Amino acid sequence: MATAVATKTYKNLIDGEWFEKNEQFDVENPATREIVGRVPRCDRKDVDRAVKAARVAFESGKWPKMSAGDRGRLLYKIGQLIRENAEEFARLESITNGKPIRETRLADVALAADCFEYYAGYTNKIHGETVPTPGNSFNYTLREPVGVVAQIIPWNFPLLMAAWKIAPALCAGNTVILKPASITPLTALKLAEVITEAGVPRGVVNVITGPGAEIGEYLASHPEVDKVAFTGETVTGRLIMQMASGTMKKVSLELGGKSPNIVFADADLNKAVDGALFGIFFNQGQVCCAGSRLFVEEGIYDEFVKRFVEKARKIRVGDPLDENTQMGALASESQLRKVSEFVEIGQREGATLAYGGNPITNLPGYFFEPTIFTNVTNTMRIAQEEIFGPVVCVIKFKDEKDAIFQANDTIYGLASAVWTQDLTKAHRVARAIKAGTVWVNTYNQLPNEAAFGGYKQSGVGRELGVHALELYTQVKSVFVDLNEKPMGWYDN
Ligand code: NAD
Repeated sequence: MATAVATKTYKNLIDGEWFEKNEQFDVENPATREIVGRVPRCDRKDVDRAVKAARVAFESGKWPKMSAGDRGRLLYKIGQLIRENAEEFARLESITNGKPIRETRLADVALAADCFEYYAGYTNKIHGETVPTPGNSFNYTLREPVGVVAQIIPWNFPLLMAAWKIAPALCAGNTVILKPASITPLTALKLAEVITEAGVPRGVVNVITGPGAEIGEYLASHPEVDKVAFTGETVTGRLIMQMASGTMKKVSLELGGKSPNIVFADADLNKAVDGALFGIFFNQGQVCCAGSRLFVEEGIYDEFVKRFVEKARKIRVGDPLDENTQMGALASESQLRKVSEFVEIGQREGATLAYGGNPITNLPGYFFEPTIFTNVTNTMRIAQEEIFGPVVCVIKFKDEKDAIFQANDTIYGLASAVWTQDLTKAHRVARAIKAGTVWVNTYNQLPNEAAFGGYKQSGVGRELGVHALELYTQVKSVFVDLNEKPMGWYDN
């Protein structure tokens, strides 16, 4: 398993300038354990500089004067440049995250380009409204950018998460400081290059790398930051909320999940088995909306499990850069440890390990077998806590009522799916499930056009679609009195 690029020292982007630091940290290829890059270890002073650059760019300079149409053309160009550099993005993503190249090409990179192109079309469609107000008066609203936005993203979809954050923020006229996850910063830095090449003015997008607990927290509490947008674990999200509260920053959070994937007895079994595999093993299960709780109706439970295990056995796990690979490496050693620990917990709790459960030791990196637990009850820790790996809990249910009860019996509410050929049942269940997304007879559909976000402890706010523009704009209400005479309140 060879890496695609030689070890390189990368720079950060602040105020349109690329800078290096003596303090750096290594970026590892999780499939080979080789070091593939070194990036700056930014500190609070660097954060101050980035925030100042974003503030100046927001208040003065070219950005606030630019027409919405020109902003749109810039965003579109970024999308085009991602496409032109697609192969480099795909390889960088695979060698730092460990995900199969066929996924980085078809999903991560393609959707990231789409995201910029989608929001390119929205820049000149953001507008206020006129409001009927009583008396001889008139009110209208302006929809304005929030200002300087700090964006902190995770390692599971490094480029795509950067796109989900930066594209709508720029679309609405904000300026940005992006902090990628420390283990996967390279595609965000490549994106910064592309953004600069597209002609985005200096200071509008700043990308800095460094420890979350230090510069992430500092960004979230920085008095000159107007909003923080975060994607990551629910525990970190809680901290971010606390940190942001000091200056009442606007906060949007995309957090963890333990999504129910419900298969009714009347489902098309072939489709459901296939969808359940995709629901849990896509991206090695390191997906916030992974269908990690697989509910199967009791009448088809045994047959379903048989077919599901048979197909899981055939998944090709291996070199992420091999086009035939269907599952790559986990993103880090600590992730491998966490997944292994949860497998032990599941066994101690009395679940049956129907397939997998072990690290793959004949491969050089952090590989783990596709893992299936059966005879799981929804109260077990493996069914309630986010494992964030290729581990699925198959849980039996009796009927529709039982499925809905168990599906909702979680602190999370990010996504869900229903497999049935009964249209009315599908819509009934879709309404009853407390989650931000319900897929019917499909899984992991995440087009840029559709809202995405969490109920309950899975998040605050909705990304993608027109909904993301709510996160990056604020409404100003302008009130105009049309009377010729004074108000007369104090005519004594
Ligand atoms: P994480 O919370 O550990 O880290 C996310 C980001 O926050 C990283 O950039 C990290 O450096 C930074 N960070 C860490 N500690 C911080 C702190 N104290 N203050 C400020 N920033 C800090 O999450 P992760 O392990 O990178 O990602 C996996 C998690 O992300 C999973 O829980 C997954 O469900 C979630 N996720 C959610 C979505 C969604 O859209 N809901 C999408 C992808 C991932």
